[in-house]
Amino acid sequence: MDFLNYQHDHLFANQIAIADLAKQYGTPLYVYSADHISKQFLAYEQALINNKHLVCYAVKANSNLAVLSLLAKLGAGFDIVSQGELERVLKAGADPKKIVFSGVAKSVVEIERALEVGIKCFNVESEAELYRINEVAKRLNKTAPISLRINPDVDAKTHPYISTGLRENKFGISYELALDVYRKARSLANINIVGIDCHIGSQLTQLSPFLDAADRILALVDKLQSDNIIIEHIDLGGGLGVCYDSEQPPTASQLVTELKNKLINYPDIEILFEPGRSIVANSGVLITKVEYTKHQDDNHFAIVDAGMNDLIRPALYDAWMNILPEKQPQAGDESFVYNVVGPICESSDVLAYQRKLSVKQDDLLVICSAGAYGFSMASNYNSHPRPAEVMLIDEQQHKLIRERESFEDLWRGEVVL
Ligand SMILES: *Cc1c(COP(=O)(O)O)cnc(C)c1O
Repeated sequence: MDFLNYQHDHLFANQIAIADLAKQYGTPLYVYSADHISKQFLAYEQALINNKHLVCYAVKANSNLAVLSLLAKLGAGFDIVSQGELERVLKAGADPKKIVFSGVAKSVVEIERALEVGIKCFNVESEAELYRINEVAKRLNKTAPISLRINPDVDAKTHPYISTGLRENKFGISYELALDVYRKARSLANINIVGIDCHIGSQLTQLSPFLDAADRILALVDKLQSDNIIIEHIDLGGGLGVCYDSEQPPTASQLVTELKNKLINYPDIEILFEPGRSIVANSGVLITKVEYTKHQDDNHFAIVDAGMNDLIRPALYDAWMNILPEKQPQAGDESFVYNVVGPICESSDVLAYQRKLSVKQDDLLVICSAGAYGFSMASNYNSHPRPAEVMLIDEQQHKLIRERESFEDLWRGEVVL
């Protein structure tokens, strides 16, 4: 979180006081650093500079139009998982030829739309999907570029909810069936095989699962090649972890360097990545206000205005997220070990357990590393309008990139009987 810094004991984002942002835009409030997002993306680009490549940002990590357009301007491609994400990236100015479409449940309408705009590739996740894409393409008199998402059956050594590369997961086509499904794909008139794809999980902090997956995928590429099925690109997915606490994941540059070394004997193959979290997680924070403190027996609660509806990672994945006080404690300030909890009527609405803090009513707290899977997973549960989002443009300037939802937004489309 290199854009956060304390000045005279108050927390700043670049040269902007967190307290000023909270005052201007209200809380809870998501704040992102444009500079940090750019740097994270360009690290992938730099590492791939001598290879034919495309870095497709995984839209689901943070799908705000400002984030997407910033990345589109830097030349990013996009990995989408729904028509909603497709419409978003088009709205943000993405080049359709740089869009890959993942996801296990692509509907006929979604496939039609993707063919109509001319995306780069469908990452096909089942045999049935392959046949559906072929039929839709035939009806539209088009040819669909596809890769098969292969499940390499490696253990990503991450949280089970974000591990996708084991054979029992719903994602991808099993390794054993891969060759067979590629042969079937070849026989379909409106299918054009262009690539191979895998994505084994998220928040991976070790290199070995990536390397194992790449080995498995390359072994398959060789088999396909000898079967005269020519692979133009290898998509190694996303999943690179970030530091939330004390994790020391490889850098994008380390990851890419190791993987592209494996590809030295495949000079004509284009390399794709689909990073999400590693581009945006540490680019964002969530500012929240303490509504109350509550002390009962040995339990101390800091009750804040952001809840699991705004940021579900702690509740959903047991995720640990760092929390910084807006104001550093002063000598003599009373501190307690708090559970930081939100306003939602669920016992799981806890943002952080057991944090030593010195806070009182109306103080601000900053939840770090909230740029990925934060706002994009936010909901209106308990009828809370979703928070505003702000982009730090440079050291001094910031811009509202999504208005706080209004109460009218909460019931848009509903009727009173
Ligand atoms: C979620 C996802 C990604 C991005 O994962 P990160 O861990 O955010 O990098 C990439 N590809 C696919 C297919 C995904 O589902």
